[in-house]
Amino acid sequence: MIILSREDGIFDQGLIEALKNAKKVAVLTGAGISAESGVPTFRGEGGMWKQYRPEELATFEAFSRDPNLVWEWYSWRKKLIAEVSPNPGHHALVQLEKYYQDFTLVTQNVDNLHREAGSNNILELHGSIRRNFCLDCAKNYEDSDLTLGSEVNSCDCGGLIRPAVVWFGESLPQGVMEASFQKAEECEVFFSIGTSAVVYPAAMLPVQAKRAGALLIEINPQETMLTTSADHFLQGASGEILPELIREMGI
Ligand code: NAD
Ligand code: ZN
Repeated sequence: MIILSREDGIFDQGLIEALKNAKKVAVLTGAGISAESGVPTFRGEGGMWKQYRPEELATFEAFSRDPNLVWEWYSWRKKLIAEVSPNPGHHALVQLEKYYQDFTLVTQNVDNLHREAGSNNILELHGSIRRNFCLDCAKNYEDSDLTLGSEVNSCDCGGLIRPAVVWFGESLPQGVMEASFQKAEECEVFFSIGTSAVVYPAAMLPVQAKRAGALLIEINPQETMLTTSADHFLQGASGEILPELIREMGI
């Protein structure tokens, strides 16, 4: 395990060579990559809303019990996310996508910031907070069709409208999941960035990649469940480490 010291900013040259020579790269991002844009992570500071933990709000049960409360929380998050912009970490991943022949970005984030930054090949595991649909007839709604606030919106058919995100306890979109596992198994290098690696099945992706022979690189200011399995643990904020890394690679 290699710990990058932020003070001297020196990367392992073996790592840089391996990154320059790789052809197939897969990346998993979590809430941490958007933290520097001002989107709170779930488990970090600012993750709580009123007195609630996200796990108490981001479930079908919570929405069934109190749709107004859950919609109010999403309205707050939608407004917050609409005001923020991608940070240097998101932008560095766009550069990496251009550099590699085969590059896949798997994200657990629902904030659309990778797309806004310019990444193309994105697999959204948990959906998008920008989209919504009716619980009864599945009709899609944009935020601009709806009223954000403390009262849930109803569809023309009378059904309640929910955000198009995957809630705790719900299954992930199957095609997206399968494609993510396939890329994890095929890649030579796998990055796990800004994720606490505790939300399954996404947390299995880096483990699976490593098992299949990939070099596993983790970028996070804090150690996670994954850190002891990583070949390189680059400790720090992704908005700083990723731009340094691509500069070092000569991109
Ligand atoms: P998490 O909140 O469990 O963990 C965030 C991780 O990011 C932590 O390990 C933390 O140390 C790290 N981190 C904090 N600042 C960082 C930085 N500047 N650079 C790099 N890493 C940093 O988030 P998770 O693992 O993504 O899981 C939570 C679930 O919540 C996900 O499924 C995701 O869908 C959802 N979520 C999404 C958003 C978003 O879309 N931006 C925000 C919050 C939660
Ligand atoms: Zn409907």
